[in-house]
Amino acid sequence: MHRGLRVVQSSLPGWSNKLSKSRRTKTAVENTETEIWVRESELTKTYYGIPREEIPWFPKIETDKCVGCLECANFCRNGVFVVEENTNPDKAAKSTWEKLRKRPKIVNPFNCVVGCSACAKLCKMEAIKFPEREEIVKVLQQLRSKYG
Ligand code: SF4
Ligand code: SF4
Repeated sequence: MHRGLRVVQSSLPGWSNKLSKSRRTKTAVENTETEIWVRESELTKTYYGIPREEIPWFPKIETDKCVGCLECANFCRNGVFVVEENTNPDKAAKSTWEKLRKRPKIVNPFNCVVGCSACAKLCKMEAIKFPEREEIVKVLQQLRSKYG
């Protein structure tokens, strides 16, 4: 959380996980006149009442395409990636991935914001993949009837 800002979740009437992030923020501002900035992952591990870990929305790196530019890891502010130090790069390897000294590693997949695919759009090598949107919509519909 940013310094000087305050999360007021417990004091907010009607605060609900069923509200979108933007509505939560708006509600908070209306109720407290205090600007807040929260990450969805810090506030709650649910998405519309569904445990976040049940939603298979997170990036996957196709290592045969990655060139180690680290744009993805440097861009994401949600702690999904870390920069991994490869202490024993194989200079003779055919694969670029094996030669890289630094490469992106996904360590907190469920910190990824459901529906965001910004890092994939940023990757010039098209090395980051997400599930098809139609697929995730179906999964979400099933989960919402389970938890709704
Ligand atoms: S942006 Fe793409 S190519 Fe660059 S490190 Fe990330 S996955 Fe690899
Ligand atoms: S899709 Fe968005 S939130 Fe998820 S890892 Fe990429 S930049 Fe981070």
